[in-house]
Amino acid sequence: REELLQPKATVDERSKQEESIRPQKFADYIGQKDLKEVLDIAIKAAKARSEILDHLLLYGPPGLGKTTMALILAAEMGVNCKITSAPALERPRDIVGLLVGLQPGDVLFIDEIHRLSRMAEEILYPAMEDFRVDITTGKGSSAKSRSIPLQRFTLVGATTRAGSLSSPLRDRFGLVQRLRFYQPEELSQIVLRTAQLLQTAITDDGALEIARRSRGTPRIANRLLKRVRDYAEVKSAGAIDQNVAAEALELFQVDPCGLDWTDRQMLSVMIEQFNGGPVGIETMAAATGEDTQTIEEVYEPYLMQIGYLQRTPRGRVASPAAYQHLGFTPPNEQLS
Ligand code: ATP
Repeated sequence: REELLQPKATVDERSKQEESIRPQKFADYIGQKDLKEVLDIAIKAAKARSEILDHLLLYGPPGLGKTTMALILAAEMGVNCKITSAPALERPRDIVGLLVGLQPGDVLFIDEIHRLSRMAEEILYPAMEDFRVDITTGKGSSAKSRSIPLQRFTLVGATTRAGSLSSPLRDRFGLVQRLRFYQPEELSQIVLRTAQLLQTAITDDGALEIARRSRGTPRIANRLLKRVRDYAEVKSAGAIDQNVAAEALELFQVDPCGLDWTDRQMLSVMIEQFNGGPVGIETMAAATGEDTQTIEEVYEPYLMQIGYLQRTPRGRVASPAAYQHLGFTPPNEQLS
């Protein structure tokens, strides 16, 4: 169950077959209206001036379409996109090699950019600013430094925690954009599109049922669709409708709001042991066995988005809607 609802990509989802459902064009990228508007203007302006795009920082929870957007930007600009992630750039020569190999205008996508080593970051500064890398060879008094010119390129950085980026790095991005959780209607369009590509028959309300349980996250929506498709192939002859989708997802223990065991555990500890809160993050971590970072980056943003949890200066508080969802009576109703 937890695997089904976790927003990070599984090994399978990094495969070639998965690439076939990834939108390739701006027009197929559903939702994220504000982001698309900003980028559409940036692309048109850059093209009109025959320039490259400004460096772009995308931030937001996993699985919302950061990599997809980087690939689309490259496609729209007619250039290649090189995809890497900060943990793969540990040694200075990894990042230097990558930068030197870029073609004019290429998009370089670095995932988890907040995890770059200090050394890698320092190599990146002059690369982003002046399109050059400075390297030092030799040691001590015989050390020589030289500068290698690079092709002009666009860096697209992705992070789940914009706040963890060092400010010199953040300041070098011309555009900083946040990705938001998708609304059920948007996710349902994504499900319909994927179903078409997978040649699976589905009704609008079937798609919406999957969308509602997908934690505002396209990657989860596509994953749930595949599980529901398996179920429908075995159990029912026709298209996936709302009943089939709900039945299948109940079998896989996906909650009607997309909550998993950890979300429910967090909320019930707050409600049952702390009267709804405020509760400190460390307590939540201990109650669920998750680390505080995962709670802050993956669990809480979604619970806040659906209005089940608030962060206050004194800790986390469960809302009346969370009480109701878990079958408890909210505190204000207990009094009356
Ligand atoms: P991570 O940082 O965890 O790698 P991500 O934000 O880069 O996540 P993507 O890999 O871009 O996420 O998106 C996950 C999947 O969701 C994609 O393969 C794609 O099929 C689908 N997807 C994402 N955004 C959209 C969208 N706006 N419209 C349609 N499908 C989308």
